[in-house]
Amino acid sequence: MADAKIIDGKAFAAGLRARVADGVAALKASHGVTPGLAVVLVGEDPASQVYVRSKERALVELGMNSFDHHEPADMAESDLLALIDRLNADPAVHGILVQLPLPKHIDSQKVLARIVPEKDADGFHVVNAGLLATGQPGAIVPCTPLGSLLLIRDTLGRDLKGKRALVLGRSNIVGKPMAQLLLQADCTVTMAHSRTADLPEECRRADILVAAVGRPEMVRGDWIKPGATVIDVGINRVAAAEPGKTRLVGDVAFDEAVKVAGAITPVPGGVGPMTIACLMLNTLAAACRAAGAPVPE
Ligand code: NDP
Repeated sequence: MADAKIIDGKAFAAGLRARVADGVAALKASHGVTPGLAVVLVGEDPASQVYVRSKERALVELGMNSFDHHEPADMAESDLLALIDRLNADPAVHGILVQLPLPKHIDSQKVLARIVPEKDADGFHVVNAGLLATGQPGAIVPCTPLGSLLLIRDTLGRDLKGKRALVLGRSNIVGKPMAQLLLQADCTVTMAHSRTADLPEECRRADILVAAVGRPEMVRGDWIKPGATVIDVGINRVAAAEPGKTRLVGDVAFDEAVKVAGAITPVPGGVGPMTIACLMLNTLAAACRAAGAPVPE
């Protein structure tokens, strides 16, 4: 059997970003509105700093406003809530992103719930989760599952009806919304997690397998149905062969899986770039809704 097609998330994300940049220019021309995202970072977590910097860079590249709020690690929860209130009320801010994880003395759920749902660029607010779960229009969808769905559709076509999909992982930010999106696309969806009995057998039934567990290379080649589409959301840093060096791997054992799957995302260069591109799309869509302009697909 020929090796799987490698799904080039980097190239797809570049195309999506170009479309978002066009949408931004069109909104400026038609309504005089520049989409703006407020990025709130509390503390100095190095991984969060890297993510936040790339988000801020992407905003500027695409012609959007980036309102950066980098706050000290000992910021009081009440001050963070007050900042969210100000951003909620600011008409130049169309999206608000609070980089997680927050320091331990701050209740993340309380902070995320304070963002008005229309500005919830990450789609983590319970109102957006509820709109998605009940299949209603206007839901802001979390960026990683949205990006994964776009890659699945680009690989298999828009019509996914009747396909068996398995989502491995049930987090609120990836697994659950991913399953909702696939269900809405008329797939027959199984959700698997740490208590699933016979995980390999469940995986082997899936035409579409989305892995979001955070366990390096857990999904082996013989867990995969021949010809399946495999979306590897995992980002895990492991020791490289060279002493003292590290490398990124996904939740899927790529070298084994590529011999069995029909198509597979690499790590890095698969789902990762889609996440930021979809954040840009969500921000543009929020700005369009606020301005009463047509919302891009
Ligand atoms: P969480 O830790 O929140 O969730 C992990 C899920 O995997 C849980 O539902 C857990 O089950 C399940 N799980 C853990 N161990 C096992 C196991 N041995 N067998 C079966 N299921 C298991 O992770 P996230 O959803 O936040 O992230 C998942 C991965 O995706 C991570 O590697 C993360 O880095 C990556 N990620 C990548 C992004 C990107 O942009 N590409 C964005 C966000 C995340 P249970 O609920 O039973 O505990």
